[in-house]
Amino acid sequence: MNHFIALSLFFAMCIETFAQGGIAQGELDRKLSDMGFVDVATLDTAIVVDLMYARDDNFVGRAMYDGLTRAWLHPDAARALKAAQEELARQHPGYALKICDASRPMSAQKQMYATVRGTSKVRYVSNPANGGGLHNYGLAVDVTIVDENGDELDMGTKVDYLGAEAGVNREAEMVASGVITAQAAKNRELLRRVMRKGGFRALPSEWWHFNLVSRATAKASYKVLDF
Ligand SMILES: [Zn+2]
Repeated sequence: MNHFIALSLFFAMCIETFAQGGIAQGELDRKLSDMGFVDVATLDTAIVVDLMYARDDNFVGRAMYDGLTRAWLHPDAARALKAAQEELARQHPGYALKICDASRPMSAQKQMYATVRGTSKVRYVSNPANGGGLHNYGLAVDVTIVDENGDELDMGTKVDYLGAEAGVNREAEMVASGVITAQAAKNRELLRRVMRKGGFRALPSEWWHFNLVSRATAKASYKVLDF
């Protein structure tokens, strides 16, 4: 390869990286893109994306996503998320959804499971041997709300908090006993309202997790991300 070609290739790579927002795409990104999945960042410019498992400060304490740098969703879930963001902007101008996790190919799920195996945290990660959850179909999102300054609203706990306070069934009780504030309960309700309006279902144990369909429907009508 002569120097001119090498240099041209180098610049082409730089331009590609720059065009994608400064982060080079990984292998899993490419596969999801090829399948026609939607990059959440391109859905609505208001939506904030910050993948917690691509960083070290998640509940397992180290980055777990190799080759996955973006939030991808099945087109059905992407449409629902866009509708939810539009509803949020209507109800609360200036507020935006912040996506903390979306599609999780089985290889990423296995990596995650291997990290927590043999620890007390294993019960919070679904065993890939059982067929996977809705993240493994690209039909679930972990999401919170940020205000006009980009600060997360008070939801009573952080996203991915391990404990009963993350549940949505006893919020009135938790407000009464001072475990979460009345404002946090209201903020969670706002999140559920707009996500439901978009077409998502809330999960009882985690205020931030929303599924587009049931596990049975996912199994029957969608394809697990088995790579
Ligand atoms: Zn989740």
